[in-house]
Amino acid sequence: MFDFHIHLARLPHPKQLTQLLYNGDYGFIAIACEPWEWESTANLKKEFSTENKPFKTSYGIHPMIATQVSDADFERLKEYLQADRSASVGECGLDKRYPGYGENGVQEAIFKRQIELAKALGRDLQIHCVGDYGRVVTLLKAAHYPPLLQPANPEPRPVFHRFGGDAGIVRAALPMGAIFSLHADSFKKKSTRATIPLIPEQNIRFETDADETTFAADGRSASNGDAPEYNVEEVIQALKERWLAVKILWENLKV
Ligand SMILES: [Zn+2]
Repeated sequence: MFDFHIHLARLPHPKQLTQLLYNGDYGFIAIACEPWEWESTANLKKEFSTENKPFKTSYGIHPMIATQVSDADFERLKEYLQADRSASVGECGLDKRYPGYGENGVQEAIFKRQIELAKALGRDLQIHCVGDYGRVVTLLKAAHYPPLLQPANPEPRPVFHRFGGDAGIVRAALPMGAIFSLHADSFKKKSTRATIPLIPEQNIRFETDADETTFAADGRSASNGDAPEYNVEEVIQALKERWLAVKILWENLKV
């Protein structure tokens, strides 16, 4: 199992959880999409990463906070990315539910800066899109991302996280070497569900996108507000079930 998009630092018992996942059979890319999460995720990596097992991370600015970030935040982001040579950039992108979504708006500006960063550093780009996938593809093309292959990191690729686009987007993004990371929600929209079988298997990944809301949503909230009711084994079990459920949805579409 390899979870292509998980917010480890936002989950209950993050340290214990990371250690158990890391020593077990559950690989992951730990996504950090705002400044506090960069720090927590980098600390988890520092504590648990070993030389023979790379701890994969991604640092970026989510469109939900696009209107709140400063140049100083960008400098810090760059520092995290330069310090962690295997890290991806993101998640970043466009989201119609948050301010600054309009054409040429703040979300675009913040996304473009991160595309340029991924291009300059030769990194994968974890893309978040709730809204216009066509605009995302246009912005990638305008920025000439992905760049030509670089010996240090031969495969900078756009990763469409929690993919929800249609056939036109798949056709436009496949020549870029795009990865389509599927989430249970990817199978909810009819046009996306119809499109998923068109994606070659080597371009498919699976993710939980698990974060603090994953374990708050089912009503088992913490009894006293400071101790999550889920123990770490239950969290791991829930992650594995969620990840497997996505894979099974995908397998059922293939037949
Ligand atoms: Zn995410």
